Amino acid sequence: MKDLKMSYHVNKKGYYGEFGGAYIPEMLYPNVEELRLNYQKIMEEPDFKSEFQQLLKNYVGRPSPLYFAKRLSEKYQAKIYLKREDLNHTGAHKINNTIGQILMAKRLGKTRIIAETGAGQHGVATATVCALMDIQCIVYMGEIDIKRQAPNVARMKMLGAEVRPATSGSKTLKDATNEAIRDWINNPSDTHYIIGSVVGPHPYPDMVAQFQSVISEEIQWQLQEQEGTNKPNYVIACVGGGSNAAGAYYHFLDDESVNLIAVEAAGLGIKSGKSAATSALGNEGIIHGSKTLLMQTKDGQITEPYSISAGLDYPGVGPMHAHLFQTKRAEFIAISDDEAMNAGLELCKMEGIIPAIESSHAFAVLKKKPFKPDDIIVINLSGRGDKDLETYINHFNL
Ligand SMILES: *Cc1c(COP(=O)(O)O)cnc(C)c1O
Repeated sequence: MKDLKMSYHVNKKGYYGEFGGAYIPEMLYPNVEELRLNYQKIMEEPDFKSEFQQLLKNYVGRPSPLYFAKRLSEKYQAKIYLKREDLNHTGAHKINNTIGQILMAKRLGKTRIIAETGAGQHGVATATVCALMDIQCIVYMGEIDIKRQAPNVARMKMLGAEVRPATSGSKTLKDATNEAIRDWINNPSDTHYIIGSVVGPHPYPDMVAQFQSVISEEIQWQLQEQEGTNKPNYVIACVGGGSNAAGAYYHFLDDESVNLIAVEAAGLGIKSGKSAATSALGNEGIIHGSKTLLMQTKDGQITEPYSISAGLDYPGVGPMHAHLFQTKRAEFIAISDDEAMNAGLELCKMEGIIPAIESSHAFAVLKKKPFKPDDIIVINLSGRGDKDLETYINHFNL
């Protein structure tokens, strides 16, 4: 058994260890199967690769800098680097994935895009690439979320997308997902469903992880340039569904000398009943078409999650992360609203960077965990904080 090296990548059947797979209604099978049979082949076509890379460079603005944070490094006595995904066009890592998927949709001959969104960030990233490619875009969003996230709804509309309210159930993300799936079943041949994180039925988690893997690919050569080594001691990233973390970990997954830290939102506290710390509170179940860890009641009802950051407010994690947790390949740390907000403000004051509150959770780890002075730490700064100004204002009475 000893020489059987553990893999943290997806296997041929679409599983990460015991997690993953495609648990979908039969009527969705042809759509998912079409994608499964084609995605890897298409991603490896030279044509596809070059168009993807050109857009990442000239439209998104990649490579994103790997910035040595001098003052933070002095304070926390370690070599701290920030991977600046906040500087991407649209202000976060999500655009890496939507660019990849719109190109995939075109190669599959699709003329219509659907997506679902909770906080609106993925909806905006999807509407953006649909405008870029002149493709019809419909974004499903819970009626309550539409009210809560008015600026992102306006952005989507300005970008030419139609925002359709989901009016059933709790009128939030879960219900929007159901509407999107219903739409896809009804429009199997001309429509591609752009999922926004490393969640959903196989092959989505793997496809999204590969599109986001550009993050760790760049970290490798950028560290080589600045430190003379291509591997850090730690990679730290926040986890909602897990896509920015998957991208930041990807090329380090099978090298166990690189420590991976996954940061979840504890909300008001893990035991408060208002939390999104899936690894601490969840257990195995099926959500969004895959077997993974999720927060649920004893009879399998999904628990409503809570976090001050809308992007981490998700009741599950993707199957790759469930596997990383179960095998202990990644260390999972839960950070409360208050800890995240304070870490975010510290980054503003010390480095002149206003982070998304999601990303602020990753920075709070610096206070929780002792590091050695020689440790090279890469923190994935998944997004910028402009969208969160109102929350920062209210929290700190600014
Ligand atoms: C959406 C979002 C996240 C959470 O999504 P993941 O798929 O876990 O990366 C984190 N940070 C920012 C800035 C986001 O917009």
